[in-house]
Amino acid sequence: MTGLGIGLIGTGYMGKCHALAWNAVAAVFGDVERPRLAVLAEASQDLAERKARELGFARATGDWRSLVTDPAVDVVSITTPNAFHPEMAIAALEAGKHVWCEKPMATRLPDAERMLAAARASGKVAALGYNYIQNPIVRLIRRLLDEGRIGEVNHVRVEMDEDFMANPEELFYWKSEASSGHGALDDFGVHALSLIWILFGGVRRVCGHMAKPYADRPVKDGGRRSVETYDIATTLIELDNGASGAIALNRSAWGRKGRIFVQLFGSKGTIVFDQERMNEVQLYTTDGAGETQGFRTILTSPHHSPYDKFIPAPGHGLGFNDLKIVECRELIRRIDGEAAHLITFDDGIRIERAVDAIARSAHSGVWVDIATGGDRQAA
Ligand code: NAD
Repeated sequence: MTGLGIGLIGTGYMGKCHALAWNAVAAVFGDVERPRLAVLAEASQDLAERKARELGFARATGDWRSLVTDPAVDVVSITTPNAFHPEMAIAALEAGKHVWCEKPMATRLPDAERMLAAARASGKVAALGYNYIQNPIVRLIRRLLDEGRIGEVNHVRVEMDEDFMANPEELFYWKSEASSGHGALDDFGVHALSLIWILFGGVRRVCGHMAKPYADRPVKDGGRRSVETYDIATTLIELDNGASGAIALNRSAWGRKGRIFVQLFGSKGTIVFDQERMNEVQLYTTDGAGETQGFRTILTSPHHSPYDKFIPAPGHGLGFNDLKIVECRELIRRIDGEAAHLITFDDGIRIERAVDAIARSAHSGVWVDIATGGDRQAA
């Protein structure tokens, strides 16, 4: 039996991450057929050929359309800039391929709805790149919540900050163009919402605010261009379960490198997680004597599945790229018809609806109700 045939579109930051995952998934998990790295597409034939050699793909093309109809391809990884996602995903689904598309699903809600319709019509698996939910620590948090270890959660706060756009002299690139979406909301907000979705379910209503720290940025060939996206977004939220919350996002936050700071406050305790220290979680419970109460740190270990598939020893830690390997295994599980810990287009549309509502609220200055609805999936 041969493994799935893989087509990869794009080989930047996330393209390499997907390629590493496809290369590693059989070796790490030992229970899936080794995928066949069939075709790689890039913006030019030359670049595609160089990247295919580096990343281990059999063939290369400068035309992504030929990749999505290639009979050797069963699954298409889409890792191109946001604006390409709808066209590429819909073409792949219409060609009868499974899709693994990077977040955000789309930059405009109607496009995301079209992607969902294409996925449903195809009957193929259409999944999104929400790797942070794959952290074994996040699964542990979900278990702690389900077990009631911090009681009823009444307040949820998620912050995501990085500094890759903090320098006002950073060159203008696709993330500053309106074609990439709203800005921090599509870049980071979707990740925050993916964690909220997987831990708690949907969001009922939102009140958003968006800001541009810099009005313009230099362009490569000289001069400056007006920034079209909002690098900062702040949102009050109310969850479907009634809990209050806040999401704060800033991709121009000097000193913050990969911070996703999650604080969950409950009636019997608190959970704190930070992606910059992604192999640990802080747990505070009211159990025990008052004088010994305090946060304790739990480090990842083989107890936290699927850490054990990577390393037999505790405390050594997984990395960002490992989360993609876990996501890849979950995708294959779903393709094989099994339950999977994955955000598909069916769930992802709820995140897109929330993003759309936050942006509308930011422009109108009033709370916006949303019906994200539905139940989160099995852990
Ligand atoms: P990038 O700019 O590093 O890479 C994009 C790649 O797409 C480049 O290699 C570019 O040449 C290629 N490309 C552009 N047009 C193409 C075309 N017509 N045909 C084929 N290839 C083409 O971007 P990135 O940072 O990797 O972001 C890509 C996507 O991944 C974005 O949607 C982004 O939101 C998402 N992303 C997700 C995460 C995550 O944690 N899941 C992290 C970063 C980025």
